Amino acid sequence: MKTIGLLGGMSWESTTTYYQLLNRMARERLGGLHSAKCLVWSFDFADIEKAQASGDWDKATGMMVGAAQNLERGGAECLVICTNTMHKMAPEVQAAIDMPLIHIADATAPAIKVVGSKAPLLLATGYTMEQDFYKGHLKERHGIKVSVPDQDDRTEIHRIIYEELCKGEIWADSKQTYLDVVQKEIAKGADGVIFGCTEIGLLVSARDFNVPAFDTTALHAEAALDFALGG
Ligand code: GLU
Repeated sequence: MKTIGLLGGMSWESTTTYYQLLNRMARERLGGLHSAKCLVWSFDFADIEKAQASGDWDKATGMMVGAAQNLERGGAECLVICTNTMHKMAPEVQAAIDMPLIHIADATAPAIKVVGSKAPLLLATGYTMEQDFYKGHLKERHGIKVSVPDQDDRTEIHRIIYEELCKGEIWADSKQTYLDVVQKEIAKGADGVIFGCTEIGLLVSARDFNVPAFDTTALHAEAALDFALGG
């Protein structure tokens, strides 16, 4: 089994989900006392959020590259960036390390294709919904064209991620907001929903929707374990 390097703490609320999923899946697949071989780098998310909010992406990239290199020096054999948003600098991080970076959008795309979703809705941070690094990756590498909610809904979805989910706060009103946004977009033609932020699965689940849901955290963890087990 290869050692998985988890670049986490963005936020730690979802890094714990990755850690649990990897270990549970390793036990299910291998049996006995098996668990996943992991190294976890966990940032102080306040430092990351500050760089994001001030638009200092060079600083954020430097932090990501440094941590990825530390994981590699420590013995990691692949890199898992435990957030969709910070895949913004995935190309720079990959260029700075020798181990493969398992891209979260590459892990998600096959699940979208296998169910035949042609117009999935992307729920994510404002950065991920509005910039091109994620939507462009899905479109150019996988031919998947996603839609995003309208401006007011994007603002509220983003706010709930940073002010609640990343602090471990799960509120019924916020869940209802997410459900309402998805229903509105289904009425406009969305035929799937991408949980494009690694904390969204803490608030809603696939069972809440009458279209297929794609939880990037679970799909990413699964892809990482596949790699680690040589599958
Ligand atoms: N974990 C989130 C994501 O998947 C948001 C936090 C961050 O900005 O990294 O995008």
